[in-house]
Formats: sequence, C-alpha cells, structure tokens
Amino acid sequence: MPPGSTGRFHDYDRPVTSAVSAPVDRGSLDPHRLPRHVLPRRYEVRLEPHFDDATFDGRVVIGAEVLAATRLVVLNAVDLDVVSVHVDGTPAPFSLDTETERLFIGVIDEIAVGPVAIDIVFRGTLNDMLRGFYRSTYRDASGVERVVACSQMQSTDCRRAFPCFDEPDFKAVFASELVVPEGTLAISNGPETRRTSIEGSRGDSKVCVGFADTMPMSTYLVAFVAGPLEATEPVDVGGVPLRIVHVPGKSHLVDFGLDVGAKSLQWFVDYYGIPYPDAKIDMVALPDFAAGAMENVGCITYRESLLLVDPLTSTHNERELVADVVSHELAHMWFGDLVTMKWWNGIWLNEAFATFMEVAAVDAYRPDWDRWTGFSVEKSAAFETDSLGSTRPVEFEVRSPADCEGMFDVLTYQKGGSLLRMLEQYLGPDRFRDGIRRYLATHAYGNTETSDLWDAIEAAVAHDGGEPVRRLMDSWIWQPGYPLVTASVDDDRLVLRQSVFSFDTDPATDRLWVIPVHLRVDGRDSLVLLDSESSTVELPSAESVVVVNAGGHGFYRVAYSTAMLSRIDRAVIAGLTPLDRYGLVDDAWNAVVAGRLAAADYLDFVGSFTDESDLPVWQSIVGGLRSLDRLIDGAARGALRDRVRSLLRPVLDRIGWEPASDESDLVGRLRGLLMAAVATSGGDTEVVAHCRSVHARHLEDPTFPVHPEILSASVTVVAATGDADDHRRMKELFLAADNPQEQLRWLYALTEFDDEALLLDTCEFAVSGAVKSQNAPFVLARSIANRNHGRTAWEFVRRHWTHAVDNFPSNSIVRMADPVKLLDTPEMGADARAFFAEHPIPQSAKTLDQILERHSVNIALRAREEKRLSQHLSR
Ligand SMILES: [Zn+2]
Repeated sequence: MPPGSTGRFHDYDRPVTSAVSAPVDRGSLDPHRLPRHVLPRRYEVRLEPHFDDATFDGRVVIGAEVLAATRLVVLNAVDLDVVSVHVDGTPAPFSLDTETERLFIGVIDEIAVGPVAIDIVFRGTLNDMLRGFYRSTYRDASGVERVVACSQMQSTDCRRAFPCFDEPDFKAVFASELVVPEGTLAISNGPETRRTSIEGSRGDSKVCVGFADTMPMSTYLVAFVAGPLEATEPVDVGGVPLRIVHVPGKSHLVDFGLDVGAKSLQWFVDYYGIPYPDAKIDMVALPDFAAGAMENVGCITYRESLLLVDPLTSTHNERELVADVVSHELAHMWFGDLVTMKWWNGIWLNEAFATFMEVAAVDAYRPDWDRWTGFSVEKSAAFETDSLGSTRPVEFEVRSPADCEGMFDVLTYQKGGSLLRMLEQYLGPDRFRDGIRRYLATHAYGNTETSDLWDAIEAAVAHDGGEPVRRLMDSWIWQPGYPLVTASVDDDRLVLRQSVFSFDTDPATDRLWVIPVHLRVDGRDSLVLLDSESSTVELPSAESVVVVNAGGHGFYRVAYSTAMLSRIDRAVIAGLTPLDRYGLVDDAWNAVVAGRLAAADYLDFVGSFTDESDLPVWQSIVGGLRSLDRLIDGAARGALRDRVRSLLRPVLDRIGWEPASDESDLVGRLRGLLMAAVATSGGDTEVVAHCRSVHARHLEDPTFPVHPEILSASVTVVAATGDADDHRRMKELFLAADNPQEQLRWLYALTEFDDEALLLDTCEFAVSGAVKSQNAPFVLARSIANRNHGRTAWEFVRRHWTHAVDNFPSNSIVRMADPVKLLDTPEMGADARAFFAEHPIPQSAKTLDQILERHSVNIALRAREEKRLSQHLSR
C-alpha cells in the first residue's frame, strides 16, 4: 500500500463517454458483464472502519494489465462515496452508475497496453444489511453493545466494500490492510505480516495491520473482520495454523469446531492430493451473518450456531450441523477457491461439490453417524422442489446479481450433491476421486466451466475402459426434474421404464435421462445404464425378488408393479439397507402427494414398520404423519392422533425413555424425535407429563442431568402444550441464553405454542429488535408453519412485509414466505397469489414460483384426502 493520497479529484457529473476510444464504448456495454480489456492482477486494499459512527474510509490501488489501449476503465462499485481516482498517478474523472453498480473512469490520454495502476480513495457505511463491509454487534459481559466490522462478499457485494472487478474470473492477488484502534483484533485472508502505528484518517492514533498476499483468487472470497474479538491458539494441521475467532466469553465452545476442522482439513489434503493452497485458516464466528457460513480463503466466516457448540449440552443434530458446515467450507478451499467457476451459472457445481464433500468428510470423521443415510433426508427436500412444473435445470442461465442470488437453493445444494453422489457410486469412489484430482491439478488458480469437470473425470477413467461421464451428467444437469423408474416383470425378464416424476397433473413427456440403475436380484448386486425409454434385464427366474435403486444413491423414484411389490415382504424389508427402507417410505409419501396412493394406504403401509429403528426412516414417517395431521380436523384428527400414538409409542418404549450408557448418538436422536412426536402428534399425556417434569427440574436446577436430546424434545413439548407463563419464561431464557444452540432452541420454541395470542406475541417479538435480523425471518417462517394458528402468523407477516424487506437479509425473505404453502385451503391459495403478485421477491423469483405451485399441490392434496381419510379413520 503506497502512502496516503495527495491529489483530490472529484467529478461525478462530467460525462466520460466523450473520452472513450475503441475498443470499448460505454453505451454498448453488457449491463452485467465487465469488458475485458483491463485485467486486475494485484489489489492493495486498505480499510479503516469507524466503529462509533458505522462508516469506513478506504483506498484501493489496483495493479492491472491493459490488453487494448483505452480511455475507459470500467469496474464495479456501489453504495460507496468515491473521493478520488488516479490512473498511473494522474487524476482521472469518473462517474458512478448506481443501476449497473459500476464505476467508470475516463482518461484524456489513452492508456497504453501494459501495466497500469488505478488508485481509488473512497468512503462507505458499515451497513446493517449483512452484506459488503457491514456492522455486527454483540453485548459484552457488562451489557455494553460492541461493534464488529466484518464482510460478506458473495455473490456480488465486494463492490460495496471497495471498487473492484467483481466477477469470479477476474482472479487477482489481494494484499490487504486494516486500520484499527490499538487492541482491536483484525484479520483478513492472509496471515498478519506487519503492524505499524499510524495516524488514522481522523487524526487519531491507530494501528495499521498488514496481511500477506493471497493466492490469486476471486473478489467474492475477500474477507475483513475487525473488532473486540478473541482468537484461540492455532492448531497445527500439517503446517497450516487453524484457529477459531469468536466474541469474548465463548472460548469454552470452540473445542468441537477445532477438532472437526483439523481432522477434515487433513482429510481434504489427503483426498485432493494437493496441499492447502494458502497460508492459514481462521474460522470466525460472527454474531450477525446472513448465510450459514462463507468460504473466504483463509478467513471462513460462520453464524455462531454453526461453529461454536458445547459437545456436552448439544444434540446430535446441532453437532452434526457444525461438522457439516465446517467440512463444507473447508472443502471449498480447493473446490471453489483454488479452482473457481467462470461465472455464476456454475455456482451449482461449486455448492453441489462442497455439499457432497461435507457428507463424505463427516462420514469419515464420525462413521457411527451414518451420514450418507442421513443425507437421504436432504435429498428428499430436493425431490420435493424438483417434482414441480416450476422446477429448473440444475445448470441455469444467470445474468444479473438477482439471478445469482436465486441460485442458492435446494436444487443447487441438495440435488447437485445427490447427482455427484450418484456419479461417484456409478464410477466407484477411487475413480471418481482420481477425476477430481486431475480436475483440480489441471485448473489450479484458474476458472472453469462445468463440463471441464466431466472431461477431467472422463480422462481419468479412460485407461480402464472409459465411461460416458459427460453424456450421463449432461442429461441430469440440463434437464429439469427427475425420472420415475417403473419396474415390472415379464416372465423371467425385468422391464425398466423411465418417465418424468411430477406432482404436475400434465407433466412433460419429452425427457430422457442416462440413469445408472443399481439392482439387487435375489440378493446379488448389478448395474445397468438405462438411457432409453425402456430396457429389459434377464432374471434368474420368474420368481426373482428385485430391488431397484439398491443402495439408494440414485436420484430417481421407483414404482414397482403390484406383483413385484408383493414379493418385497417383511423379510425382504428386514434385509434391506436403511437407505433402501428410507426410499420405500419416502417414495410412498410422495405417491400420496402426487395422487397415486391414498393417504389411508400410506398410513397402513407405515404401520408395518414397527420393528424399524433407523433414524432417517422414522424422520420420514414422522414427517408424513405430521403432514397427514394437516389434512383433517375434528374427530378424525383425534382418531389419527390415536393411530400415531399406537404406532410410535411402542417404538419409544422399545428403545427406552432413558439413554443406555453405550448407545449411539443416532439412537439418542431417535429417542428425542419419537418423544416429541408421541407427545405432540400422538397427544400422549404420559409422555407430555414426563417432558414437562424433566423440563421443570432442569429449570429449577441446571445441574440436574438431562440428556440433551431429551431436554431439546422437552422444550418443544412444553411449548406445544404451554401457556402464557411458559411463553414468558421461554422468552426470558432466550434472552439470557449463553450458548448459540440453547438460544435458538428457546427462540424457535416460541413458534410452537398452540394459542393465537401467544403466537402473535412471538411474531411481535420477532420484529421488536430483540431478535437478530439473521434469525427473525425464521421465527416468522416457523410461526406460519404453526399447525393451528399459522394463518394468524401469515397475516402478521403480510402486515409487516415492508419492515421485513427493509430489515432482514435479502436471501431470507423467500425462506420466511416458504411455509405459506402449508396453509392449504383454496382461499389461502388465492390470497397468497394475490399478495405475491403485488409483492414479488425478485432475488428469489424462481423459488417463489415453486412455493406457490407447491401451495396448489397441497391444496389439491387436502381437497382429495380430507373426506376420504376422515372416513377411513372414523371406521
Ligand atoms: Zn458452499
């Protein structure tokens, strides 16, 4: 960073177009892509946050290379007050275009081909919208509010922190400096290399903290964090120092995150066969964060609840989330950071791959968690959206920043991750890994298109016969939706057919996928590639028992002919893997939603799972039962409650109400799931009383030992059956909670109360300022999902829509609206459509379409089932 700027030149009004020469004409520029005649090579960025008035001063010197002589330099900047611009030391006129978020710099004398230095001085605001360079706050031990300046650049918000070439293929080296008061922790992507006392921009005495140059990387991966924070001692992971940075007073919550971080970092080094590409890693827990976490090179930022956890008081789900997210972000250091998509249409592969790798790494970290079976629950979420007519292909055109924001959805993460798992299982893990290694080695520090990965994998497996990787994957990523594979037996031949699975009554018929179909025939595994409408497979006998999608890794659903299904009896089910059994119950529920199976038949079918003790299978069944409970009212609902209780209570009794000393984490989690479901969906008064008493004893004496899964279930049960006193108490507990998981438990419990006034109070609380804007949208979403009073919550959200849009992170708005689809009356359907016609969510337009279509599917489901399920239950 050169010394402070001397020249001051300010010229917003002077048109620069007159100074433009070929090859770039401002009027003909693509509004979303910068011209490529000037390429940034090295940024020297200095930011000086002012914590008292939430502003910052900044300066960036961009060493760039001019490829064609020009009088115009175009880069990105928005919500910045640009003070001066110099090009090679000469003041240059400039103008900002708010609409395209650009800074135009014009010069009188043409800049020649070769190196150029662009020096920009600017000011900005540390905003409260959790994007760009923003303000996060927490209260210290004495109740005083403290401010942290931190950043979130993805996807297109680096331009809010400093003027830059803000597109992922403009990779450059970043040399950063933060100017902060003495005693303030300051970190960025590279390790700290120097500290100098200097005079701040306001004449005060400051410290300038300098950081080492980064590897060449994209602007969306730049990070700055400065504030009253603490860092752990570094853990050495094969020469890479790994730390956790957090607000003071939370050092007792770092051990788990450091352990999983160190182990999975080493696992990735081994898997990729490439050393960690930069110098250090800080994992930073921020009090305010819009996404879950962000893979900034060497400076990974997280929501507190996804990094800081107490292993002794947390549930399996809470620990697994931390392990997942830590592994996910570390996976990105290579896949995403070292090798990066050329443009945002490729974001799906970036996120899909990190999702795939997070599961693989956590599976290696804790094999007893059976992470791949757990992943099937997430895959179902992708199936749900992908069953709609309004779904999209995984790879999708992205033009504007709003298009880009809309890509961070279940199709990108969960469907994309599932497709990679399917490919890995098709090729075999070693061949798949060899392909990944070749891809990363070939494109290190560069940018790629999706097809580069398929080509690298194809090349890596070419020596042993080769595989049609690109043809296979192209059929999955360029076509929306997914197939239904129908299996029937014709004499001693198995007939497989593919068609589109859809909730749509008039689905598309013109799609064909290249489907790797794993078969288990009389207990023996085989693989066929179904790439036409139908295919036949010889069977050993006409009586053979066939399981299609054996292993459960294919991204498709299976429908068996009645004759084949009748051979899959209890004995066969008992011999299936948990993932296979999960597939059976999940396929059955989706057949109900699609109108191909009666809800009553589903209820009878899951009734045969009494011997089941696998967590994901029960997660699916409990979810299905909860959905059934939404379809009916009155006496039938009471009858359903009895059925639920008689199904679930014996399973709970079988695994026991108290944990055994040597049981797995998954059994503990299953107990919590069943306890909450038996008490709420099953209305079991004994279990309710047990949960209330456990809860009361724990509140009286926090040292009273309660297993976290039971405590967490009890919090839900107490809320679902609670009164005004319970509500008030839980609010107080939320405000006083000192660890992020407990805090969220109390907060979300407020949405479970079965009382209109209390739920309304919860909604008021969400917008009162007592709940951080990162959490408030989710409190409102859960309130809309409340079984009996969701409509009241939705009306509240409607009334506070402007407040939400103005105050909540933009990526959270559509998530807040999502549960509207559960309000399944025709009247509510019309209401929601009318409302969103007037209040679109442009950054999530596609997701909103999907929510509204799913809403219609739910309304049709209720119309179809309400009467006949009620009749079935009252028989
Ligand atoms: Zn990611």
